[in-house]
Amino acid sequence: MFNGASERLLEVRRLMGRAAARSGRADDACELLVVSKTWPAAKVAEVVSAGHLCFGENKVQEAAGKIPALSSMVTEDLHWHLIGHLQRNKVRKALGLFDTLHSIDSIKLARYTSNIAGELGKKPNVYLQVDLAGEERKNGYAADALRRDLDDLLSLENVSIIGLMCIPPAATTPEDARPWFAQLRELRDDLEVRAGVLFPGLSMGMSGDFEVAIEEGSTIVRVGSAIFGQRDYT
Ligand SMILES: *Cc1c(COP(=O)(O)O)cnc(C)c1O
Repeated sequence: MFNGASERLLEVRRLMGRAAARSGRADDACELLVVSKTWPAAKVAEVVSAGHLCFGENKVQEAAGKIPALSSMVTEDLHWHLIGHLQRNKVRKALGLFDTLHSIDSIKLARYTSNIAGELGKKPNVYLQVDLAGEERKNGYAADALRRDLDDLLSLENVSIIGLMCIPPAATTPEDARPWFAQLRELRDDLEVRAGVLFPGLSMGMSGDFEVAIEEGSTIVRVGSAIFGQRDYT
């Protein structure tokens, strides 16, 4: 059943291409972010050998060990994206590790991140995480709050806001996620009209639903277990 991460990577790429074609999008319209959380550097190195360079981690602390370990194993320049919740006291460390943040979800956090990025001479790419379902335990901007803060967010000098990210409520079938993906795209379209700027990025779709996400306009899917197998958190 487990063919190895590099074979699975090819299979995910094939399915991504098919989903893009089905929806009349270009073959390369959607990027693949391979989610390496919980997997050791040596395992991630297998995927690098297969030619993949862009990885996502959800915890700053875990990444702080893995990223240097991996860069001592491979010669390629890798790109790291933070996909998990970012705490204020980890912002400085995160900016040293990640070039893209998928989880900025308040003006306070955005402003603080921009300030620290300025100090460090960096300008990370940022997706604003949106909580479309209003789930109490989930992080993310409510759509109304995001509309309210939009001008302030766009005035920040040292973050480059490139789009929106969502994690839909737990679902039983991939189709259950479709309305949420469509809703994120519509919110993005609305924000673009309001602000008169483009937010080309839609970070949506995971192992269980990335094909549906691509059909609904995803520009980057975050895929872990479909490539590495089931994670073991014990
Ligand atoms: C873990 C994680 C993923 C990947 O999940 P899979 O189902 O293993 O593909 C994607 N996005 C976020 C935010 C995650 O935390």
